[in-house]
Amino acid sequence: MFLKRIELHGFKSFAESTVVTFEPSITAIVGPNGSGKSNIVDAIRWVLGEQSAKNLRGSKMEDVIFAGTDKRKPMNIAEVRLILDNSDGTLPIEFSEVSIGRRVDRSGQSDYLINGTVCRLKDIEELLMDTGIGKEAYSIVSQGKVDMILSSKPTDRRELFEEAAGIIKYKNRKREAAKK
Ligand code: ATP
Ligand code: MG
Repeated sequence: MFLKRIELHGFKSFAESTVVTFEPSITAIVGPNGSGKSNIVDAIRWVLGEQSAKNLRGSKMEDVIFAGTDKRKPMNIAEVRLILDNSDGTLPIEFSEVSIGRRVDRSGQSDYLINGTVCRLKDIEELLMDTGIGKEAYSIVSQGKVDMILSSKPTDRRELFEEAAGIIKYKNRKREAAKK
């Protein structure tokens, strides 16, 4: 499984509908300061359920919506979709391509979507569990995270390995079963 494409519409500086495509190998995004490189990472984190405006480098959630420029009116809705290639069947869903989306408008109305159908954030989290994809998962390594991993307690660091090993879902199921 790999991230094939990101589609952005009205998210932060991406007023124009923008499509960024990736290959299974390495892709580097380069550009001048302020051109929107970090906004792409923010978009990924946001789709995966980031609720903290601060973690998205804003002060309120509305800041993810294109705020307008001298030449362009502000937009009223932001929408981002991540398109994952699932031809190897990593995700437990019978589609070779899976789209995970989120949209929000200025009233704060927000929806999550799997393959275009509105769902709960929990559905997205369950679908991606143990894949390393998640707002806090190891697939996004931010600047401060490297230090955090190196200096964390062994028990905290173990969680990272457990996720990479794909055993978190079994631990969760065990915990759920114990409650019944
Ligand atoms: P650097 O190389 O300095 O890290 P970068 O390419 O990572 O730069 P970003 O931080 O992704 O750049 O982009 C910042 C730009 O996004 C700023 O110009 C900022 O005005 C713009 N921006 C952020 N939020 C919005 C918004 N809601 N509406 C319009 N523009 C926005
Ligand atoms: Mg940046």
